[in-house]
Amino acid sequence: MLARLVPAPMVRWFARPYVAGDSLDKALDVASGLWRDRGILSTLDILGEEVKEKARVDKNVGLYAAAIDALSRDARFSEAAARPSVSLKPSAFTAGGQEEARAPIAQLAAHARDRGVALTVDMEDRRWTDFTIDLAVGLFEKGHDVGTVLQTRLNRTEKDLARIPPGMRLRLVIGIYPEPLDVATTDKWAMKERMVSFARRLLERKVFVEFATHDEATVTRFVREVAPADPDRCEVQMLLGVPRTDLLGRVRKGALGPALPVRLYVPFADGWDDATAYLRRRMAESPSMAWLVLRNLFGR
Ligand SMILES: Cc1cc2nc3c(=O)[nH]c(=O)nc-3n(C[C@H](O)[C@H](O)[C@H](O)COP(=O)(O)OP(=O)(O)OC[C@H]3O[C@@H](n4cnc5c(N)ncnc54)[C@H](O)[C@@H]3O)c2cc1C
Repeated sequence: MLARLVPAPMVRWFARPYVAGDSLDKALDVASGLWRDRGILSTLDILGEEVKEKARVDKNVGLYAAAIDALSRDARFSEAAARPSVSLKPSAFTAGGQEEARAPIAQLAAHARDRGVALTVDMEDRRWTDFTIDLAVGLFEKGHDVGTVLQTRLNRTEKDLARIPPGMRLRLVIGIYPEPLDVATTDKWAMKERMVSFARRLLERKVFVEFATHDEATVTRFVREVAPADPDRCEVQMLLGVPRTDLLGRVRKGALGPALPVRLYVPFADGWDDATAYLRRRMAESPSMAWLVLRNLFGR
């Protein structure tokens, strides 16, 4: 609620740590610096999910294709293991129904495969769950390096685990979208417990688990209790800007268990207007920060 009251310039100010900048070049520089200085991998996301017309879909396809081209050409990422992946949201590729998003995402997945860039289809709210799993699994089964995301707040996720084939990449998160009580838990402790137990089950089925949380206790449990069974199929992921440098370093160096790759989700904008929806979501997640911004604005 509060996040909606904050004027756009203040949103941008608040969000600066969470966004790599307002151009592809800036995002590539951030990703390159993360890898060079700290051994941290990236997944690049273009902020553009508020789509209302077909022209915007075409623009998003063009922006992602350009990002994929740039990643495959950039000498700083010539080592395949260092090359950032890309993440996209299906709603950025339709101005109408969900099905409209299928063709442009398939086109980008083929483009990414030809250029040696991995792609992840992010998960949006519960109305997108079936479509996203079906699309991402279908592309993976056709030989594309495509992964997707499951949200442990949703009660259905326990059954959805079985839909992810061996070898596919699966990012596990608690989920950012508020969901109704009849389909989801609101108990964060339960969401985190599910992250640990679902990760174990996915690993047993030889799925590559991308464990995405900033919760130190949950990351520690994953590294100590789950990853030792198959560390080559484990990665820890966090969002750019959330202050977890020390924890990421410990995971990467093996101070908590087996040394695991770590990756940051690096959003960037093609101009600032597109970024606002994403930034407001981040603020809604951290209301104390929103309070701080409001106090700076209206206080004293
Ligand atoms: C790499 C990655 C990809 C994601 N992809 C998706 C997706 O596709 N679909 C989806 O629904 N959700 C996605 N999420 C978001 C995820 O679902 C959670 O909403 C988010 O990670 C916060 O939950 P948490 O597990 O970190 O636990 P929390 O309990 O919310 O956070 C743990 C601690 O981390 C800190 N923290 C968390 N978030 C922030 C923040 N924004 N700013 C400052 N501090 C913070 C707080 O101190 C908090 O106490 C993604 C998250 C990550 C890290």
